[in-house]
Amino acid sequence: MNKGRLFIVSGPSGSGKDTILAELFKICPEIKFSISSITRDMRENEIPGEKYNFISKEQFENMIKHDELLEYNRFVGNYYGTPKEPVIKAIEDGCDIIVEVDVNGAAQIRKEVPDCTSIFILPPSLETLKVRLKGRGTESDDKINARLSCALDEIKRAEEYDYIVVNDNLFESVSELCNIIKLDRLKTDRNINLIEKILNE
Ligand code: 5GP
Repeated sequence: MNKGRLFIVSGPSGSGKDTILAELFKICPEIKFSISSITRDMRENEIPGEKYNFISKEQFENMIKHDELLEYNRFVGNYYGTPKEPVIKAIEDGCDIIVEVDVNGAAQIRKEVPDCTSIFILPPSLETLKVRLKGRGTESDDKINARLSCALDEIKRAEEYDYIVVNDNLFESVSELCNIIKLDRLKTDRNINLIEKILNE
């Protein structure tokens, strides 16, 4: 059986990556999503176990100690990490899996799983990003400013990614991300068994 592929999706908070991913999973329900473990407080609209598992700092540090994370990072005072086991299992089972992490997490994953594809979601402008972050109304001005400063640092590292999707229009962004994933499935190294099958007939 062919192995699955790990896709990394990053983008500053407010870039709209969550909305793009939610739409993508409607079109491609066969793609798995890696649920991160995080220590920040749950927002009102969040459901535990959907995008994140909300755990304590002690639980998180225990996961680090037992080498249970593929990568982790601290972001605005909280831990965010990708549990290793579900990702490895999806790839071994031949499923494509999307991991949504920040730029530091992405760099760690590329070292662990070099055979992955990374996509950076850019906002159309910094102004749009500011408006989106303020519009959420879920965080204090200090936290919003901290997120904006992280956003600039993240955008500086967008060059490390294989693909850039500019989230100007939701429909187009979803279809671009979908195209990247579909094209990746046609890569020769993912289809060696098809060639071998014909040669062995
Ligand atoms: P938020 O608090 O807005 O949900 O996420 C903040 C940042 O953490 C976003 O840039 C998001 O991509 C990133 N993030 C989410 N999950 C993970 C993870 O498992 N690992 C790392 N390194 N970053 C994550």
